[in-house]
Amino acid sequence: MSQPRTVTVLGATGSIGHSTLDLIERNLDKYQVVALTANRNVKDLADAAKRTNAKRAVIADPSLYNDLKDALAGSSIEASAGADALVEAAMMGADWTMAAIIGCAGLKANLAAIRQGKTVALANKESLVSAGSLMIDAVKKHGTTLLPVDSEHNAIFQCFPHENREYVRRIIITASGGPFRKTSLAEMATVTPERAVQHPNWSMGAKISIDSATMMNKGLELIEAYHLFRIPLEKFEILVHPQSVIHSMVEYLDGSILAQIGSPDMRTPIGHTLAWPKRMETPSESLDFTKLRQMDFEAPDYERFPALSLAMHAIKEGGPRPAVMNAANEIAVAAFLDKKIGFLDIAKIVEKTLDRYTPATPSSLEDVFAIDNEARIQAAALMESLPA
Ligand code: NDP
Ligand code: MG
Repeated sequence: MSQPRTVTVLGATGSIGHSTLDLIERNLDKYQVVALTANRNVKDLADAAKRTNAKRAVIADPSLYNDLKDALAGSSIEASAGADALVEAAMMGADWTMAAIIGCAGLKANLAAIRQGKTVALANKESLVSAGSLMIDAVKKHGTTLLPVDSEHNAIFQCFPHENREYVRRIIITASGGPFRKTSLAEMATVTPERAVQHPNWSMGAKISIDSATMMNKGLELIEAYHLFRIPLEKFEILVHPQSVIHSMVEYLDGSILAQIGSPDMRTPIGHTLAWPKRMETPSESLDFTKLRQMDFEAPDYERFPALSLAMHAIKEGGPRPAVMNAANEIAVAAFLDKKIGFLDIAKIVEKTLDRYTPATPSSLEDVFAIDNEARIQAAALMESLPA
């Protein structure tokens, strides 16, 4: 029998983390867990570490170190805490690392994992939006295999002519349209976070659910796809497809279109990256075409979803713009979830931050963090000036 593959899950207590652990735990003879990380959820982290007999559990919030130690008492699992511990966990040399921390907070650990030159399954799109060139350069330099987990990008990856990218006429990124696809702007102005996190097709963490509702998620995904597949921007198209069964498509020069289709369950793309280049059984339901009956398509509405236009402009302008946009969006989404601003204020804050703050193009990780930090400060200040 072959040796178990060593795996690390960064962001093990989140939605993607749970789905990843579900697959790993069904196959503990094939996968050996090196490190699991979380931000503050000690109990979930310690339970997962014990169930999988992980070598190390890491909590990002340093004040929770003792709690983690206590929760792991009686086991031989190592405990560590703090931002540096997160990076060290990513450097333990796992064969496969799931990058599923939310937001730019995952960037350092993702880069550390990429620098190991093994396989990184990337869910954390914000890191690629803010530091795409740096991350892709590191992938090339270290000969790392970077596998996209985001369902659209995983679909494109499965249909893409990797050795002949010049064959691509068009990449069609599908979008569900989120919970407010048919909601008027007047109604959107009053929606609560509780309502906005209810996605019609996917079960996800709070931040990405709000991004889906504003459609900023699709904007982030366009930028993510641009970095991952390196074809000209004008070849990407966004298409609203409310059933979320076609996860994205690649059109070839001769007019052939390849699509990856399946039930909306993240365990399919995660399983694809976990087994790659082989395939594995997952518990994702087989798609029943007779129940599906129809598939709908429509163009995105840029007026009701201005976040999408903001992202398109940000990637066209390039340089620091995507990093500024991402940071402002993270701050605005957190404020909306905290009931400090309204739903439509999210895009307004992002737009105003982009209007106000134009730093130089980042050339190092430090530059990216400086831009990220300043954009957060500017976005927070703008929020204070919003009419009550
Ligand atoms: P969740 O909010 O559910 O989970 C986030 C994870 O990151 C948790 O483990 C959390 O720990 C940890 N975390 C949060 N903040 C920090 C921090 N400052 N430092 C270290 N760790 C931190 O997010 P999702 O699983 O939904 O999303 C993860 C990533 O995957 C995102 O980038 C998202 O865009 C992307 N993605 C998600 C999809 C989905 O279906 N959910 C689909 C496609 C992409 P704790 O639990 O302790 O807070
Ligand atoms: Mg997606």
